[in-house]
Amino acid sequence: MLKKNEIYETEFTGYTSEGLGVARIEGAAVFAPKAVAGERCRVKILKVTKTVAYGKIEAVLTPSPHRVKPACPYAGLCGGCAFQHMDYVEECRLKAQRVEDALTRIGGLKLGPVELLGAASTERYRNKAQFPVAVCRGKPDAGFFRQRSHQVIPVEHCGIQPEAADQARATVVTWMRRYDVPAYDEESCTGLVRHIYVRCGFQTGEVLACIVANGERLPKEEQLVAMLRQAVPNLKTAVLSIHKKPGNAVLGSEFRTLWGPGYIEDMLCGLRFRLSPRSFYQVNRDQAERLYEKAIALAGLDKSKTALDLYCGTGTITLCMARSAKTVIGVEIIESAIRDAKENARRNGIENARFFCADAGEAAKRLAAEGTQPDVIVVDPPRKGVSADVIEAMVTMGPERIVYVSCDPATLARDVKLLEERGYRAVRAEAVDLFPRCAHVESIILLTKGVANPKTELGCAFSENLEAQK
Ligand code: SAH
Repeated sequence: MLKKNEIYETEFTGYTSEGLGVARIEGAAVFAPKAVAGERCRVKILKVTKTVAYGKIEAVLTPSPHRVKPACPYAGLCGGCAFQHMDYVEECRLKAQRVEDALTRIGGLKLGPVELLGAASTERYRNKAQFPVAVCRGKPDAGFFRQRSHQVIPVEHCGIQPEAADQARATVVTWMRRYDVPAYDEESCTGLVRHIYVRCGFQTGEVLACIVANGERLPKEEQLVAMLRQAVPNLKTAVLSIHKKPGNAVLGSEFRTLWGPGYIEDMLCGLRFRLSPRSFYQVNRDQAERLYEKAIALAGLDKSKTALDLYCGTGTITLCMARSAKTVIGVEIIESAIRDAKENARRNGIENARFFCADAGEAAKRLAAEGTQPDVIVVDPPRKGVSADVIEAMVTMGPERIVYVSCDPATLARDVKLLEERGYRAVRAEAVDLFPRCAHVESIILLTKGVANPKTELGCAFSENLEAQK
């Protein structure tokens, strides 16, 4: 039995899904942050549970060639990045392994090694930043939450955020200090400014700054807008998000435009998209293009086919598919995202796309009951995956292919297993890294219906389709 506060020597052999290192000591699994596989370390045990133990690396005895000195001064404090202590080669290896492990262990799938497409850049790749605001050392400040806490660490410069985010953050903090604007206090639910939210269109260069506040008005609004316009080149709009409810949600549900149109635009896969603060938009634009290209190639579309895109956001995947399909239908629960999706279809001259604002399960049930029979269904749900009623309705509609895009390999594997039990076969898995330095990874699974020998049949269709897309 491992003892708390005792120090052991051990070798780390792998990683957990959150990126902690895994070692075995006296038969027990021990998890520790900032480990690199293959390293022998001295580990202090911090907590022992019935099944596992948690520790802290006291000394690295044989460093891995993949260990690097974190480039970020906040690494270890800030809860944002998980992999500042290893090179990107090792990070990609562990992410591919994580997807493969989930598919095998949770999904019981045998799809072989998963190929992960790494990003060309691991710096300043994010197009969205959310800085919590709080009083730090007696003054309003903004930064990121300390790991596993809600304590704000002021961060002047974040290596994975665009420069505009740093500029907007610093400007709002200066405005708050200059005009005595109070920061929100989570405990007492008093004060005003909760978050600084920044979104950038990397192709258009446009920037949206949004102040999330516990109230309908901000003091010195005009001064805030003037200061932001001066400090943030390409600022296109400034928005106030009214958020008076307690809780962890970053944005409120009501918005008031302080200046500009209230949204920005960006180009993705050759199409122009309108983005409001609440609309979902992948944070890594370049890698999102790769992800969508892969998903659409796997969908195997042609001009005779109908595709249904559940959880469509602002219609990114839907509209990209529309170009190579007869008809596409997008379903999404956030009303403003659906408004954006319809507007996006209009401004891109796409006439074969329909959008519904509804819960994916409700919409799928209704479409199934109406006898809608899409040839392809694409699902791209939030981390928790799809619910049982969505699986049921998808199976009832009986598409030839289901393309499942996921940001959580564990729920992906769980849902794919359910679809396999209902007559679908998972035939291909791919992964794309949209979040360098962070623990998340995106993956895609293609499922086909009732193919006797899916790998051979699909192998062919898949490569033909890829050829056609080139
Ligand atoms: N495919 C889009 C969005 C994916 S993110 C893109 O890549 O841009 C997941 C989306 O699911 C979000 O837009 C979220 O608002 C939406 N969503 C969450 N729960 C939902 C539900 N129950 N029904 C429909 N959409 C939902």
